[in-house]
Amino acid sequence: MKQLWAPWRMVYVGGDAPEGCFLCDAIAGTDHEASLVVARAPLTITLLNRFPYSSGHVMVVPTRHVHDPRELAPEEGAALFAGAQCALAAIDAALHPDGFNMGLNLGSAAGSSVEHMHLHVVPRWAGDTNFMPVLGDVKVLPEVLETTATKLRDAFSTL
Ligand SMILES: [Zn+2]
Repeated sequence: MKQLWAPWRMVYVGGDAPEGCFLCDAIAGTDHEASLVVARAPLTITLLNRFPYSSGHVMVVPTRHVHDPRELAPEEGAALFAGAQCALAAIDAALHPDGFNMGLNLGSAAGSSVEHMHLHVVPRWAGDTNFMPVLGDVKVLPEVLETTATKLRDAFSTL
């Protein structure tokens, strides 16, 4: 899917392909601005999706590199869902969507291209599926990712 206006992509178009697991890199790293991390908890992190379906699309990620929910310990599964609950609350407070989609893409046939499992939380607005993605294979994001990340960090800090 194309972006109409995506200035942040030039960083990646011009840079080297990341090696290893970008989610483990985000977990290990301290540069939350660069990795778009908006919240951390003992067993999860939450970060903005760099190629979002909508503004505020985050991924809640177990801090341990696993590629399937069946590999999660019970406390890791509970932490993942608790992270999703916090993401819903923070996105609601910051962006006021009309609804959400939540989901896991497991395996390449299901659309996953990342080995490290992650739970998508996608805010939705009434009418957000308009003619642009349907007919033009083009999305319009009304806000740059860094602005959304700042709003969400503020919202998480008040939970
Ligand atoms: Zn990983």
